[in-house]
Amino acid sequence: MNLDLDHCRALDAQDPLRSLRDQFDIPADTIYLDGNSLGVMPRSAPARVAEVVTQEWGRDLIRSWNTAGWFEMPRKVGDQIAQLIGAAPGTTVATDSTSINLFKVLSAALNISARRSPGRWRILSERSNFPTDLYIAEALCKDKGWELVLVEPEEIPQALQDEKLAIVMLTHVNYRTGAMHDMTSVTKAVHDAGALMVWDLAHSAGAVPVDLTGADADFAVGCGYKYLNGGPGAPAFVWVHPRHADQCWQPLAGWWGHERPFAFTPDYQPAGGIVRYQCGTQPMISLAALECGVQTVLAVGPLGGMAALRAKSLALTDLFIQLVEARCAGQGLSLVTPREHAQRGSQVCLARAEGAYAIVQALIARGVIGDYRAGDGQHHADILRFGFTPLYLGFEDVWHAVEHLRQVLASGEWQRPEFNQQHAVT
Ligand SMILES: *Cc1c(COP(=O)(O)O)cnc(C)c1O
Repeated sequence: MNLDLDHCRALDAQDPLRSLRDQFDIPADTIYLDGNSLGVMPRSAPARVAEVVTQEWGRDLIRSWNTAGWFEMPRKVGDQIAQLIGAAPGTTVATDSTSINLFKVLSAALNISARRSPGRWRILSERSNFPTDLYIAEALCKDKGWELVLVEPEEIPQALQDEKLAIVMLTHVNYRTGAMHDMTSVTKAVHDAGALMVWDLAHSAGAVPVDLTGADADFAVGCGYKYLNGGPGAPAFVWVHPRHADQCWQPLAGWWGHERPFAFTPDYQPAGGIVRYQCGTQPMISLAALECGVQTVLAVGPLGGMAALRAKSLALTDLFIQLVEARCAGQGLSLVTPREHAQRGSQVCLARAEGAYAIVQALIARGVIGDYRAGDGQHHADILRFGFTPLYLGFEDVWHAVEHLRQVLASGEWQRPEFNQQHAVT
């Protein structure tokens, strides 16, 4: 690949998705490589949020539950997200947080599995899965007397040969490494092993094509504030395959999951389908912001859809990898993310034995925003993590980001004391 700045500019000029960048208001001095942690604010969000606050809440008050469609918002935004994850209409709701939704679906999967095959009581996941996923599973196992088994990704096929295995819970794209599972083949192997498949799409929804229906998955959850650009703490989403949705209650049986919430009956009657996965009253201001974010991704539809987004994402991450290897050679960086396209999400992680945190801080001081994830001193190294959101990143941005990285490393700038003071949030 030609790695010249001029070539990168030419790639931007030919980019069919270039216009999508205008949906965002990114500060001119910032190259944002952290959309996998907090997506950029859509330009439409401030006015829409102001409308919800001043008009729908301020003037229309409680009437807005009906007149502004507040009550349907989780289902409405859920149906929009469904278009990005291969889910049928009416099977997804935008609600609560990823952690909470995971609790609901794992509990349901546990319940369904216990009835279907009572001798199975193990949940399998990856050791490097996002901690909250592991903690929620650990808490459930503790409560039910089940067991959580953690393995490395390459050990999964072997771990499936377990007659006690009930549920496999994986994150489609790993938050640390950017490695992506083949959703279809893994789901099939899990079903062949007699277990249920729960996918976390936190780093997939809006980033890579996902087809939950085609893969025949059982349950899925995902995040609203990463590639969906829904804003800090945006509602998450939950999807349940229709074959399971009516099988059992989920444990957080709040009134929004009731068949007739406004009948105010003392007993719980779950609504049919995914609606029972709602719990209580949802945050309308946040849902309005999330809808703005989801719309920024759906805008790719007329321009080639998720396939076009994916092609650009791979071109950006390929360019980044090649530039780092060409321009930062000998600086102690090693690629953690798979080179093979089929195994790569929309981020690139680099390991470094020393200084990973400080290098990221030095980059942030230059306006190149990525993040750092600590290793465990054993299985996993400290990493510099860079997310690539094709909606608003260009090829020239990638070139400049690597040039800053080169300068930070070559000059030893990262060793300055101010870059070595750790913040609470990394
Ligand atoms: C970001 C992320 C979460 C976040 O969960 P919250 O409940 O929003 O804090 C969960 N799981 C994975 C895999 C993530 O990447």
